[in-house]
Amino acid sequence: MYKAPRGTVDILPTTSSKWQSLEQLIRTVCSYYNVQEIRTPIFEHTELFCRAVGDTTDVVSKEMYTFQDKKGRSITLRPEGTAGVARSYVENKLYSNPETLQKLYYMGPMFRYERPQNGRQRQFHQFGVEMIGLESPYVDVECMTLAITLVEALGIQNVKLHINSLGDDASRELHRNALMKHFEPCIDELCHDCKTRYQKNPMRILDCKVDKNHPLMDSAPKMRDYLSKEAKEHFSTVCSLLDDLEIDYVIDDNLVRGLDYYCHTVFEIISDDPRLGTGSTVGGGGRYNGLVEEVGGPYAPGVGFAFGMERLLIAMDASIEEESGLDVYLMPLGKEAKDLAVQIITMLRANGYSADMDYQDRSMKAMFKSVDRNKAHFAMILGQEEVENEVVNIKCTVSKHQSVVKLEDILSYIEDHESGEEHE
Ligand code: AMP
Repeated sequence: MYKAPRGTVDILPTTSSKWQSLEQLIRTVCSYYNVQEIRTPIFEHTELFCRAVGDTTDVVSKEMYTFQDKKGRSITLRPEGTAGVARSYVENKLYSNPETLQKLYYMGPMFRYERPQNGRQRQFHQFGVEMIGLESPYVDVECMTLAITLVEALGIQNVKLHINSLGDDASRELHRNALMKHFEPCIDELCHDCKTRYQKNPMRILDCKVDKNHPLMDSAPKMRDYLSKEAKEHFSTVCSLLDDLEIDYVIDDNLVRGLDYYCHTVFEIISDDPRLGTGSTVGGGGRYNGLVEEVGGPYAPGVGFAFGMERLLIAMDASIEEESGLDVYLMPLGKEAKDLAVQIITMLRANGYSADMDYQDRSMKAMFKSVDRNKAHFAMILGQEEVENEVVNIKCTVSKHQSVVKLEDILSYIEDHESGEEHE
């Protein structure tokens, strides 16, 4: 017996329609914001993620699915979407597009070698948006409003936008030095990873899951005290735009985000929706002005976010799922009827109706069960008598009305009655 690998799940037909509704809603919201889809490969050169995401992050140092291909190249299944989008932006010279601001979204599987637990998988899905080409705080806010609009459209409850500023290079340098000074006396008390972080990127210590209760965490120097004049201005514009739009937010000094490429605005959307559990992060993102240069492109500042789609699905309103049923289910009785049913079903499908039929010569009762299971609008019964008279018996499952319809009139009958209104 084969089993799906640990941390992966099958999306079965019973839930795939919920996925499709979510995907459809995402596409609709993105179209309102003029954000277009980009599809990048599922695997990339390992070096891209080390470069873009940063090798001091947990994602890169511990969680990547990395392997050598047959030519000995190091390949990694993407653990996140931004690095691939930045690579594609550079490789395809999207920066030379007359529209300076490229607004892109992606949806698809991501892979992280994590301990599977509730809401955490090794193959999971993210929807993300990247807006690349402008430094403007207005774009940060456009990204955040898109994220909020989506969450609201999905009916996810008790959501709060948490924001922080990580400043620019100058601010980060000052903050870095202050952090090193702060943690120096207790470096031996911190975990093994934090010792490496102390050398490479001390801000990562603030994100440590092991040392999060260490007394020096709370008293650590706050980024907001080290922001340069420009960084302060950027952040205060973001805050006042959010105020103008009456979007509720909290400034959260400890929000540093798990990936290395962020600067200026970072944000997370946190929900207390009971279906997710208190304080669950549904998604987050931030600004990454240096990332495109880091992967070999020109200076092209960007901002983006990613949502975990599994979490969106858990918390989204059940009513969003579209009721999708078949238009017609055909119920032939006997060989001749079956052959005629094949003709009819082909004609129906060619005319844009969804239709299915019984191939097993089952009883009427069993076939009517299939009508129910498939939520078919019309049940079409074809017995020997109908075949001889060149008619079908159509039962509308909405109005419960039953009619005998000539073969050549099937299409017009269905067209006239598909709205489910009362029969005259
Ligand atoms: P990140 O790229 O780490 O900022 O993650 C963005 C979002 O993706 C998170 O808030 C989660 O909703 C989701 N996510 C990250 N890792 C996983 C995982 N292993 N399984 C399921 N969802 C995840």
